Amino acid sequence: MDPRPLHQWTVHQLLEGLGQGAFSAQELAQHLLERIQAVDPQLHAYLRVEPERVLAQARQADRRRRSGDRSPLLGIPLAVKDVLVTRGVETTAGSRILQGFVPPYTATAVARLEAAGAILLGKTNTDEFAMGSSTENSAYGPTRNPWNLDRVPGGSSGGSAAAVAARLAPAALGTDTGGSVRQPAALCGVVGLKPSYGRVSRHGLIAYGSSLDQVGPIAQDVADAALLLQIMAGPDPRDSTSLDTSVPDYRAVLGRTIQGLRIGLPQEYFTGGIQPEVDRAVRAAVAQLEDLGATVVPIRLRTLEMALPVYYLVATAEASANLARYDGIRYGRRTPAATVMDTYRRTRGQGFGAEVKRRIMLGTYALSAGYYDAYYLKAQQVRTLIRQDFEAAFQQVDVIASPTSPTTAFRLGERTEDPLQMYLADIFTVSVNLTGMCAISVPCGFDEAGLPIGLQLMGPHLGEERILQVAYAYQQVTEWHRRCPPSASPEQEQAARTRDSRP
Ligand code: GLN
Repeated sequence: MDPRPLHQWTVHQLLEGLGQGAFSAQELAQHLLERIQAVDPQLHAYLRVEPERVLAQARQADRRRRSGDRSPLLGIPLAVKDVLVTRGVETTAGSRILQGFVPPYTATAVARLEAAGAILLGKTNTDEFAMGSSTENSAYGPTRNPWNLDRVPGGSSGGSAAAVAARLAPAALGTDTGGSVRQPAALCGVVGLKPSYGRVSRHGLIAYGSSLDQVGPIAQDVADAALLLQIMAGPDPRDSTSLDTSVPDYRAVLGRTIQGLRIGLPQEYFTGGIQPEVDRAVRAAVAQLEDLGATVVPIRLRTLEMALPVYYLVATAEASANLARYDGIRYGRRTPAATVMDTYRRTRGQGFGAEVKRRIMLGTYALSAGYYDAYYLKAQQVRTLIRQDFEAAFQQVDVIASPTSPTTAFRLGERTEDPLQMYLADIFTVSVNLTGMCAISVPCGFDEAGLPIGLQLMGPHLGEERILQVAYAYQQVTEWHRRCPPSASPEQEQAARTRDSRP
């Protein structure tokens, strides 16, 4: 048997091991729980882990397997971002206002994984209501990057990305409104996939920007991301925006040659502002795709400079409407006062953090009479132009390559005082949400400080097969995705064991 400790295994490797009876789901769960206990105090990737519940589910998975059940994820523990509601397990969205909220139902994406046999390992840290790029906006304290504890893990799904990078979960779920699956995946050296709008149900995803939000997998490799997407995707009667189109077999494209595929390289994504090591690593990755037989086509995406302003108008406008429901009456925490109005005011005043308030104000302003036409309506019009720009590009190419993030992981506290600086982290990711298209981030190198770099591959609407095919081909000839941070690498553990065993 594979001699590595179980936390080093990918989901597909674990499934094989479980299938062969090499270990039980209970042993696997126990091992991960111990590892979380040992490593997570430094990282704070998890907001909540309920060991008894995890072990009970694992024992049940073992019983099911003994009775012949072959569900596709039977016994696999997964971490879930705390903006996805989970029945009976407190869900806070990283906000004080939802402290103590125990949802009565489970989000469809999570429920489908559970129906396939997966075990909810824990809920992971997130920027409050998924608003942020560093996980520093969590009301419960930041998550740290496992590659360097002074750095942020990215965000808003920073807890999920850090958990997978540190091997505190074989894979995890994140959500992506403007980059929140891909950017933390890039900054933590793991794989993150943002599905096309409508591909995965949003039912039970605590809404931030409803026309942008999608649930996506964060994994150690492309095959695992494909497997999780396969199970989550598909129509859901509880989400009217989920698409009623059949889900292709994503695993069927893994291993297919990329000979002849056209990879677009948008000139606008490689100028100014980007860290030179990121530029180099992404170009080197594209050259490798060329070696594999793809054709690289220089393209223009002139709308890049419009993407951030449009995103921050649309997202905040939708957020201001979505967050109106938190008033202290129905969910979570209440700060009581003499009148109902004062109860609302005090609950919201104390329950929301600064960034959430900033966004509610921005969004409310953009939607208010007199400014609506100038801001919100204009943003929607430009959003259409961005979509047309991308549609035209996808007439020429199959996949578009770019950096996922202009820089590697920045320092904790470095951007918290400057929201605009923080928003710039999303420059390359938001267009895909505005257009409803799909994208994946895969590890493609390291900077001089040893921090991971991500390659973004964007595909057209419902183009998941193409981006998976190219990303998988890239991983077949590279080793970046196999690198673990020091705390999770086998050598490090070997060294620790030798130290321990010395007299
Ligand atoms: N960082 C972006 C924001 O703050 C994206 C967040 C997300 O995708 N949830 O809005």
